[in-house]
Amino acid sequence: MFQKIINFILIVSLVIFPFFLGYQLSVLDRVYFFCPIEYGQDTIILRHDAYGSGDFMAERSGSRRHNGIDLQARIGTAVYAARSGWVKEARFHKGMGNYVELSHRGGYTTIYGHLSKITVKENRFVRQGEKIGEVGKTGNANQRGIIPHLHIELRHLGEPLDPMKFLE
Ligand SMILES: [Zn+2]
Repeated sequence: MFQKIINFILIVSLVIFPFFLGYQLSVLDRVYFFCPIEYGQDTIILRHDAYGSGDFMAERSGSRRHNGIDLQARIGTAVYAARSGWVKEARFHKGMGNYVELSHRGGYTTIYGHLSKITVKENRFVRQGEKIGEVGKTGNANQRGIIPHLHIELRHLGEPLDPMKFLE
């Protein structure tokens, strides 16, 4: 009898464990967004130049606000998907330049702008950390005085969030 109970517990544990693991992984993916570019040190550098600041909600011309942050980086630096998701858009836009928009589970969206190169196709699935393009100066970042950077936005159900609070 005692042996039967032990066997039963063992079998139930073996069945439950994969589900538990899957759940843990999905929670991890839901909470954390990888920093889309690599830095030699731990600190993220935000762009600050005569044309503006790369801070979240910084002022822009007219009544516009900066809906994302500008991560200072050299042209050609690899840009990685902050989280796994679908490539909703990968094209050129007058202001954003070459940009990629990813849609993630849980109603999250990330946008990567001013790229020199896009290395993914629309409607494709990308893994977290997969390369999607390279840093550039396309769109309205294409001015001499603007320091090269990656413009990144994070939205939840269309509402802009401060990516600095989510990047790992
Ligand atoms: Zn920006």
